[in-house]
Amino acid sequence: MQNPTNILDSPIEYLKGVGPMRGDLFKKELGVFTFRDLLFHFPFRYVDKTKFHRIRDLSTNSDSVQLRGILRRLSVVGTGRKKRLVGKLRDESGAIDLVWFKGVHWLEKSLVIGQEYIVYGRVNNFKGMINLPHPEIESVSATNTKKATTFAPVYPSTEKLNSKGLDAKGQRKIVAALFEKINKHHITENLPEYMLQKFRFPERFKSLQDIHFPKNQKDLDIARNRLKFEELFFLQLRLLQIRRRRKDAIKGFVFSKIGDFFNRFFKEKLPFELTGAQKRVSKEIRQDLGSGIQMNRLLQGDVGSGKTVVALMSMLIALDNGFQACLMAPTEILAQQHFNSISATIKGLGIRVAFLSGSVKGKKRKEILKLLKSGEIHIIIGTHALIEDPVEFKNLGLAITDEQHRFGVAQRAKLWNKGIVYPPHILVMTATPIPRTLAMTLYGDLDISIIDELPPSRKEIKTLHKTENNRLRVFGFMKEEIAKGRQIYVVYPLIEESEKLDLKNLEEGYEVLSREFPISDYQISILHGRMKPADKEFEMQRFVKGETQIMVATTVIEVGVNVPNASVMVIENTERFGLSQLHQLRGRVGRGAEQSYCILMSSFKLTNEAKERIQTMVRTNNGFEIAEADLKLRGPGNIQGTQQSGVLNFRIADLAKDGRILQTAREIAARILDKDPFLESQHNQPMRNYLKKHRKKFKAWSLIS
Ligand code: ADP
Ligand code: MG
Repeated sequence: MQNPTNILDSPIEYLKGVGPMRGDLFKKELGVFTFRDLLFHFPFRYVDKTKFHRIRDLSTNSDSVQLRGILRRLSVVGTGRKKRLVGKLRDESGAIDLVWFKGVHWLEKSLVIGQEYIVYGRVNNFKGMINLPHPEIESVSATNTKKATTFAPVYPSTEKLNSKGLDAKGQRKIVAALFEKINKHHITENLPEYMLQKFRFPERFKSLQDIHFPKNQKDLDIARNRLKFEELFFLQLRLLQIRRRRKDAIKGFVFSKIGDFFNRFFKEKLPFELTGAQKRVSKEIRQDLGSGIQMNRLLQGDVGSGKTVVALMSMLIALDNGFQACLMAPTEILAQQHFNSISATIKGLGIRVAFLSGSVKGKKRKEILKLLKSGEIHIIIGTHALIEDPVEFKNLGLAITDEQHRFGVAQRAKLWNKGIVYPPHILVMTATPIPRTLAMTLYGDLDISIIDELPPSRKEIKTLHKTENNRLRVFGFMKEEIAKGRQIYVVYPLIEESEKLDLKNLEEGYEVLSREFPISDYQISILHGRMKPADKEFEMQRFVKGETQIMVATTVIEVGVNVPNASVMVIENTERFGLSQLHQLRGRVGRGAEQSYCILMSSFKLTNEAKERIQTMVRTNNGFEIAEADLKLRGPGNIQGTQQSGVLNFRIADLAKDGRILQTAREIAARILDKDPFLESQHNQPMRNYLKKHRKKFKAWSLIS
């Protein structure tokens, strides 16, 4: 018997209306190689063909509109690149210009004056007049002869496709031809019957049919829901399966006791009371460490939320149980900072802490490697030099990485090999908040702890939005703060493509500041990426030591700078920064006891998106709230730390909008695996088969942790 799904594997050129030339375009432009690919090439919007607008009612506020009228005039105007075809469409209420810049000749030949057309497009405001640039146009008679679809799908297209007749309408025809060829027997159901019933989901074939050719909004919504659920559900099912398997298979050291190191630190050294959030996550970590299963935990917490002390306490538990611990940071500066502060905090407890980076060389390095191997060093802090080959531990029990998104997957994997008997427990810390939906997807097979509370003494940074006409008052404010003994950052954007121009901005800004803050009374540092490392270091140190009051800089100060006396951050051209970058920059102030300020300077005219970004910054200091807003504004692919993963290329689900579906999908997946971890029961076969068939697709995800 022939496998009934085979037809979907047919090369796209065999479909009616495609052929070799268009087939090539489908492959090159859309990545559609087979019938199946086409089936999953979903429309990105729909035209409601049941409704028509009256031309007189259109205004510059109208968005996409559908009109029905008689084509009254048609002429080619202009020459060269300005050449365009202008038609006039008239209905009983008025008339509007239709304008085409491309395909002028072909359209001129095929359109007929006096004929009735249906036109669909976006209203454009051209010097106070409205027109419709590049509308879709179809004669009424042509529409009438076809099967009436009230909701017409619009597919993503490109110029090349359009020129070969594969615009929205052309693609629609071809997808319709596909549905002539297939029926529900060609589409294997991947959700079990009981789930379809529970959620009242239509079967898979009907969902696919309705996503392309819905009869009405309701059918479309239902189909869309099911397909989104399906996409998110299988990902969660796979991630949870990986997590379960790891937990079953990978045993870990049992840290059963809390001993002297921990207790003495807690009683004698801890300089403050832990926040509720710190207590909660410490407990989560302690439970993992005692469970006998290797810990793989992500610790998220905003800048300044106090992750370091949580890391330190976890390391002390490792020591109490006779193990070594390591802490790895992405840069030498950060590693050194950790080393200094941790050494100071645990002084007198009899713990030996060492530092290792690429710059530790010769005899010193040899000595450290020897003591690590013999177990005389308890805690080692450093850069990725820690995971390189010659480094051997006596018994590494816990490995912590700070700012994990800067470490590659391969680097983290190396840590695993440093354990003897079992891999060490792993804790990864990040100050880049990731929205819940993203975390569930990117780190869906890790356990996640969140510190969502700042230490109580911290004063909220006050954030203000100012424009050029407030400039003098901003200078005045800066002078007041300097008079109080504070220091100030002034930051300019530096985006690579326009580096020269940006540098000019920075230099001009520096000059203006120099005039306003004369050298007789003020000292100004300047810092940018084009400077020599030694000069950078020199300027940085002047600011750190308080010799200069103002630091004019590009975003190079984003990481690793800690000057508690700097309490004002002025950001220039704020509209050019992304949200997460603004948040990171703002995190440079608010580190001391004084009230800190962040002043966002921007031009007066802003795009809606820029306005939204600035308002978000003014409204909240909460990194998670900012990350959520960023996700909504920019989409998941652009969130920091996610770019390389390629995990987020969903066909239809949208992490910014489908959080609830994702949550449900994850819960259901967890419940199913609780009852049937290997999907062995009869009714779970559809899911098992589907996962098996798409193993490759899900493989990428398992690499992430
Ligand atoms: P991050 O999460 O950004 O790594 P740190 O661990 O560096 O934050 O902590 C920032 C500052 O807050 C440090 O100076 C630390 O000593 C202090 N800190 C941490 N926890 C508390 C607390 N519970 N109460 C008061 N200060 C705290
Ligand atoms: Mg930190």
